[in-house]
Amino acid sequence: MKEVIFSAVGRQQRAFVDFKYERPDIEGLSNHFYNALDRFRAAPSYAVAEEAMQELYRQRAHFMTMYNICLIRHTGDTRDAFYEAENDFFDQTLPRFEELKTDFYRALLATPYRNQLADRWGAQLFRIAELSLKSFRPEILADLQEENRLASEYDKLKAKAQITLNGDVFNLSTIEVRELDPDRNVRRQAATARWDWFAERSGEFDRIFNELVRVRTKVARQLGFPNFTPLGYVRMLRTDYDAAKVARFRNEIARHVVPLARRQYERQRERVGLDHLYFYDENYRFAEGAPRPLGDPHWIIEQAGRMYGELSAETDTFFRFMREGQLMDLVARDGKATGGYCTFIDDEGAPFIFSNFNGTNGDIDVLTHEAGHAFQVYSSRHHGVSEYFWPTYDACEIHSMSMEFFTWPWMQLFFGDQTARYQYGHLNGAITFLPYGVAVDEFQHFAYDNPDAGPQQRNQAWSALEKRYLPHRDYAGNAYLEGGGYWQKQSHIYGSPFYYIDYTLAQICAFQFWQRDRQDHAAAWADYVRLCQAGGGKSFLELVALAGLRSPFDPGCVADTASAVGQWLQQQDM
Ligand code: ZN
Repeated sequence: MKEVIFSAVGRQQRAFVDFKYERPDIEGLSNHFYNALDRFRAAPSYAVAEEAMQELYRQRAHFMTMYNICLIRHTGDTRDAFYEAENDFFDQTLPRFEELKTDFYRALLATPYRNQLADRWGAQLFRIAELSLKSFRPEILADLQEENRLASEYDKLKAKAQITLNGDVFNLSTIEVRELDPDRNVRRQAATARWDWFAERSGEFDRIFNELVRVRTKVARQLGFPNFTPLGYVRMLRTDYDAAKVARFRNEIARHVVPLARRQYERQRERVGLDHLYFYDENYRFAEGAPRPLGDPHWIIEQAGRMYGELSAETDTFFRFMREGQLMDLVARDGKATGGYCTFIDDEGAPFIFSNFNGTNGDIDVLTHEAGHAFQVYSSRHHGVSEYFWPTYDACEIHSMSMEFFTWPWMQLFFGDQTARYQYGHLNGAITFLPYGVAVDEFQHFAYDNPDAGPQQRNQAWSALEKRYLPHRDYAGNAYLEGGGYWQKQSHIYGSPFYYIDYTLAQICAFQFWQRDRQDHAAAWADYVRLCQAGGGKSFLELVALAGLRSPFDPGCVADTASAVGQWLQQQDM
């Protein structure tokens, strides 16, 4: 796939402020699209089919370009009335755009030129087309809207949280600072206040989730699935593993990572000098406090420029492109949406990074994790079909989590004499996340395999999973948490079903890059760049093989990876 159908690559670079936005004319787009689709369907030759396909992708790219410019400007200032209205326009228009895409997929699978197109574009495009058709029919549109509405209801419920603690009012993000306080009393009070807020609304959270399970099960059955679980895998575009394989992977985590994580929590308890580690002590990792970057955002970007300049020629070009195009909106300010993301502006060939710097080590994580995503999409923007700009989520997170490790040698630029603490905390956090990650996955299997289970059974299932995967955890008598309510804080469970195992699979891959980078940087980096350039042109396991990594499903892979990480942690003087 060396040829380029359409691309902004090689054009004179413009800055984001100069990117022109205009509301897409959906009727005009739809006409153009269906004209091209008719030409594609009736193509008398492969050349005509190919030409029509290029036109279809041009139409799609233009729509997505406007969508992304709008998203970035709307989240950059949520008080801007113009982009708020444009954002509403896209909320209404996106389902129609999805329908166009689905009609193209149907034609793609039926074309007599399928073999020639598969030779040119590879099998993955056809797999994506097949899975997309399996997960959509016009009859389910109203149910999908209902599903989105419920997921938004959950987000809104959490977004308006007001938690009062000793006279101060916090939201679910700002209370975190108190939960990390060196004073254990403050931590305990803050955590109690947070979970009391959840406990008081547990009925609401249960109702929303009940309705989500009900509507998702209904959609699945309309599409011919026995329940939502297999549809969840289809929606995640998983082509090379099933629920049985994932269950074996979780078992490996239970056997090889849970004991290691337990040791790490015990070591943490000793390090911070506590008699016992309660749930509100878990994020208090260092008595000296969490490492913090040594300068302001401007200074941080300067250091990042030096880091990516030294790391490789590829990252140097990439990061200059990001800076010169002003493709990063990093610092928190009034009116800006919370959180962070990386997206891609098709017609400009430009990634964009959005975040909310707040002076913690999380600011540096943005410049390694989100920049890993951005570097990947920048490296694969030459692909002529937009399905290949990004891979599926399981593979996506390999790029970002591995970049976090490839940049380790430059962390002293940001953290100075706190670097050892930063790196130890990073690796420790990554390994102790795995058991929680698989617990969230197994919980979702329970919920959708047993759609008639009520809130109480679900909470019991969660409690049982905590005993298996998080045996160190002590809720100190908190009734809501001991009753199995913790999962209600995990937004993926509500909004993005079955999206979670992806982080754990990718983490096992990223650990392998961490290990290989320490043994032979040049070889590991070359494999990483090749992986980034492949984009989404292959399935998860094909990409893993292409990068010279072991499949996380291979017998022994989890055990070997965990043992390497465990050994390194053991050797550190922490
Ligand atoms: Zn990510």
